[in-house]
Parts: sequence; C-alpha cells; structure tokens
Amino acid sequence: MRRVVDALIVGSGFSGSLLGWILGRQGWGVTIVDAGRHPKFAIGESSTPTADFLLAHLADRWSLTGLAPLACWGSWQATYPELVCGKKRGFSYYRHFSGQPFRDDESHSNSLLVAASCDDRWSDTHWLRSSVDAFIARRAVATGAELVESTRVTEAFYDDVTERWRVTIAGLEGRREIVCRWLLDASGGGAASAAFVDNPPDEDWMRTRTRASYAHFRNVKPFASEPCPEASFAGDDAAQHHILDDGWCWMLRMNNGVTSVGVVEDLFRGKGGLWRRLGDFPSIAEMLSAAEQVASLAGSAGGDSRLDIGGDGGGVGLITTGRISRCRRTAAGAGWALLPAAYGVVDPLHSTGIAHSLSGVARVAEILTGDTNQIAARLAGYDRELRAELRWIDTMVAGCYRSLPSFSRLTAFASWYFVAAIGFESAMVADPTRWPLGFLGCQDQELIESAERSLAEVCDSSLGDSELIAAVRRRIEPWNHVGLLDPTHRNRLRHTTAPKYALLG
Ligand SMILES: Cc1cc2nc3c(=O)[nH]c(=O)nc-3n(C[C@H](O)[C@H](O)[C@H](O)COP(=O)(O)OP(=O)(O)OC[C@H]3O[C@@H](n4cnc5c(N)ncnc54)[C@H](O)[C@@H]3O)c2cc1C
Repeated sequence: MRRVVDALIVGSGFSGSLLGWILGRQGWGVTIVDAGRHPKFAIGESSTPTADFLLAHLADRWSLTGLAPLACWGSWQATYPELVCGKKRGFSYYRHFSGQPFRDDESHSNSLLVAASCDDRWSDTHWLRSSVDAFIARRAVATGAELVESTRVTEAFYDDVTERWRVTIAGLEGRREIVCRWLLDASGGGAASAAFVDNPPDEDWMRTRTRASYAHFRNVKPFASEPCPEASFAGDDAAQHHILDDGWCWMLRMNNGVTSVGVVEDLFRGKGGLWRRLGDFPSIAEMLSAAEQVASLAGSAGGDSRLDIGGDGGGVGLITTGRISRCRRTAAGAGWALLPAAYGVVDPLHSTGIAHSLSGVARVAEILTGDTNQIAARLAGYDRELRAELRWIDTMVAGCYRSLPSFSRLTAFASWYFVAAIGFESAMVADPTRWPLGFLGCQDQELIESAERSLAEVCDSSLGDSELIAAVRRRIEPWNHVGLLDPTHRNRLRHTTAPKYALLG
C-alpha cells in the first residue's frame, strides 16, 4: 500500500502531534508514525509560564479548538478535570545535607521559592505526559492526520528533482510506503531521521554533562504543603528541587496522587548511584518511605532512556539515562526539519524542554505554511536559532552545576534563567508573533556575554560565595525587574511572570 501525503511526522509526543494538528487543520495530508503506542510513559513534565504563553499563542494563531485551556491550571481543571496534571505555582529549591534532616534559618539560606503566577487560577502545570500526549495526538487525528503506532521508519530516500521523499514504514500494522514532501522528525532522542539525512551527533561543545534516573510513585509524603506567605505558594505546588552535593532530586506532584521523582547527577563531580544515596538524606528518605512505584513505564520507545529494572534503584524499575545533553549537527535541510528535542536537549534543571519544543512547533508551522520561496532561507535561520538557543540553555544550566555543592552559588546563577524567561514572556505578552531577542533572549548579545562572564566567575574557586553572589547581582541588574538576589526578600519571590491574563484572559 502506498500513501501520498504532504508531511510525514515521526514521533507522536506532544510536539509531533501538535504539529500534525496544526498542519492537518491547514488542510495538509499528514501521517504521524510512532514506535510506541498511546497512552505511554514519557518524561519531561514540568511546564513553565513560557510554555503556557506559547500554547496560548499556538491555540489562537492556528485556531486549535480546545488547546488554550491547557495554558493555566484553572482553565485546565474547569475544562478537562479528567486530564491528569499537577499544580505548579513556581520553582522551589531545598538544600539537603547527608545525615541531617532538612533545616533552614531566618534568612532561608537553605531554600529558595520563586513564584511564577499570581494565584492558583493562573498557575502553570506539570503534565502527566501519558495523558497530555494522548490528548493532543487524538486532536491531530480528529483533524484528519493519520496516526500509525508501534511503527518505525525503516528506509527514506529524498529525490531532489521531484522534491519528494519515498519512505518505508514498518510495524505492527505491516510495512508500507509513504510519499511526502516533508519528513519532520519529532522523535526526541530517537534520532529517527539521522541516518536518512546524514545528521550525526555534534555535542562535544556542550558543557552540561548529567544523567538521570526516574520513575513515577504513589504515596510520596508531602514536604512543604502549607502555603509560604512570603512567596504566596506552597513549596510542594512547584517544580521541587532537592539540591544535594553532586546533583539534585526532582519531585513533581500530579493531581491523581502520582509523583514524578527523579535524580540528576553531575557527571563531572558525581560519585554515581545518587538514587541509592537518597537514603542518606533523612527528609528525602522520609518522603519516600511509603512510596510505591507506579507501573507506568510501558509504551515508551526509548531514545533518551533505557529501562533499568532493579539497576540503580535497588529493586525498583527505574529508567536510567546515559548522558542527557545531546545535539545533532543540523536542524533542517531540503525536505526535512527536526523539532527542538530531536535536535538537542540540555538537562531538566530549568524545565526548558516543553517550552523549547513548543517554540519549535510554532516556527516550523509558520515556515512550512509560509511563502514557498522563503522556506529554504527560513529553515537555515531556524537551524542557526536552535544552535544559539541550545548554547544559551547550556550556559544557564552548566553554571548551576559548576556551582555545586554551594546552594547560594547555584541559586544565584539560576537567576540567569529567571531573567531570560521573564524577559521572553514579557515579549510574548507584547506580541506573541515576534521574538525580537529570540527564544529566552538568546539573541541578546549583552545578556549572553554577561552570563558567560558570570559562568567564568562561578568556576573561579578563589571567589567566595558572597563575592560571587554580589557579582551575579551586579551583572543581572539590567534585566532584573523582579528583585532576584535582593537580600531583603530572603529567598522568597512573589509573582515574577508577566501577567498571563494579558494573553489568556
Ligand atoms: C530526564 C529528563 C527530564 C526532563 N524533564 C523536563 C521537564 O521537567 N520539563 C521540561 O520542559 N522538559 C523536560 N525534559 C525535556 C522533555 O523531555 C522534552 O523537551 C520533551 O519530551 C520533548 O517532547 P517531544 O514530543 O518533542 O519528544 P518526546 O517526548 O521525546 O517524544 C518522542 C516521540 O517519538 C517516538 N519515537 C522515538 N523514536 C522513534 C523512532 N525511531 N520511530 C518512531 N517514533 C519514535 C517516541 O515514542 C515518542 O512518542 C526532560 C528531559 C529529560 C531527558
């Protein structure tokens, strides 16, 4: 059997499915193939205000009925109570020391709470990806896209003369041929198109080198369930970061009792086996003391992860990744394009992945449906942009790991992410179609150069913590409109995001 379509999208995670939904809505013939089958486990769950602004923009720009409610906790709960997510009012960070229960002081030297939204209604969310990805894939199918699951691309040839791909796909539903104009790779770490477009890894330049182990659990006990008046939210309603000497542990609480728990180790300083060592931190051990793993790892096609049953987890089925940071040589070429997570990923520390993916969907959709004479030039621009964005995310993340084991250095350096995200969100409120300084400000040369200098300072062990923090405070000043690193706030920040209602209300 042979099918002729405009686009073959490889990967039906939220980004491939969203692109399929948009193109289907524009009348394109679309086939989406996925090696896995919905509903399936996927990692990458902590969303951000940046992602919410992009979702709202995509919903509006492409008339994607039913997408906009996902941009806020309040509208999500009112519209899709059955679609699992978690309430995420901001980012919370807690420093734990081996053998000691968590302790803080008056100035909150061992914790940082950064509120994003002003209240629960406008809150961000954690996405239970098995729910969200399946929801978006169903919408793509409803617009006419074909979804072929448990299937992979086995061969693909591009004919420069006809400007068409001839692709063979094979899987549970058999083998068949697809002829298409566009091969769009949304396979994340699956590298589904790499062999067909000669696109090897190009990642030696990346300074972030981490790996993760993770799973989903029930009965994870609360840690900070009472709202903190100075920050206006409870530390459990957040992307919760438990900071350790050589890495950190995330906890993302969903509204169905499931908590996503993972550890990320810095490969430059890690001793290995961080998951097993969680027991050395009494407050984390207490939270996990009654935890039972949820059997939810099925259906994942792998890529970034490999199932390591009983490996590092000492008996539980964890997914353990290799080095997380990765990048391909090119993001696009004649007849093909990669979505951001297929091109590269840095690390989960600042939850940049979902927003980056959505920004790629927005750009690829505009390019493919725009002026055909401009497509090649615009794809070349997209390629340059993605490289600059990954470099910038790498800087913002690498500096935090270089700061370990100092909590105050790490949280000071994290300010670069906050000023970048807040600046980009403000630009989106002004005009969601124009990003004059690029995604997360990566075209703002002054911002990038200042952060690079700051990274060099973080790596300079002759600078004491208070000197380093003062230096970061000075450097972020031109972009710091929310009082980051102001000692009078004592590590508690309220409502840092541009008002969502300006775009979503
Ligand atoms: C450990 C870890 C934690 C992360 N945490 C966060 C976070 O908290 N917040 C955040 O914003 N981002 C996070 N990220 C990044 C986030 O996971 C990605 O940005 C996001 O998953 C990208 O979505 P996607 O739909 O593009 O790709 P994916 O979610 O990777 O989906 C790829 C799809 O392609 C399919 N596929 C794979 N290979 C093939 C193949 N050969 N043929 C056909 N189909 C294939 C898969 O089955 C899957 O459906 C994290 C990443 C890692 C590694």
